[in-house]
Amino acid sequence: MHELPVTLRIIDIASETAREKGGRVRKIHLVVGEDSGFVGDSIQMYFDVAAEGTLCEGARLTIEGVRAKLRCRSCGRLFDRKPFSFDCPFCDGQGGPSEVGKEFYLKTVELEIPDGEEATTGGKENAPGGEENMSGGEAEMNGDNRPSKKSGRQCEKRE
Ligand SMILES: [Zn+2]
Repeated sequence: MHELPVTLRIIDIASETAREKGGRVRKIHLVVGEDSGFVGDSIQMYFDVAAEGTLCEGARLTIEGVRAKLRCRSCGRLFDRKPFSFDCPFCDGQGGPSEVGKEFYLKTVELEIPDGEEATTGGKENAPGGEENMSGGEAEMNGDNRPSKKSGRQCEKRE
């Protein structure tokens, strides 16, 4: 259930970008790690409903999943996590949790600008929950009965 607030944040950020450029959102590319705590399918499901009436309506949301990896405590290499095993395939060491798989960020937002120009913004620094420069808050979002709770969980920013 906690995917809803974060989905609304994604829509807010993408819509704000589109509004600044005077266009609409065409595509959103989101990266969701296996261990991020968020379920991509749920975000996808909420997105289609929550995007209605916003500049994201009809936009395609692409979710890129990232498999979790373990980091060997002996040799430091990353390897795929397997069930019931922490054994490093490169040495006799044991793996522990790594940062791979905890990703959660908005990679790109592709806009459709009425005069035919295309614009893609974003980048790896542009994580949901990052910028808070939305003047006027949600007042401009067509007055939908959107939940007013904006706090929720802070998204992780990829280092
Ligand atoms: Zn190792």
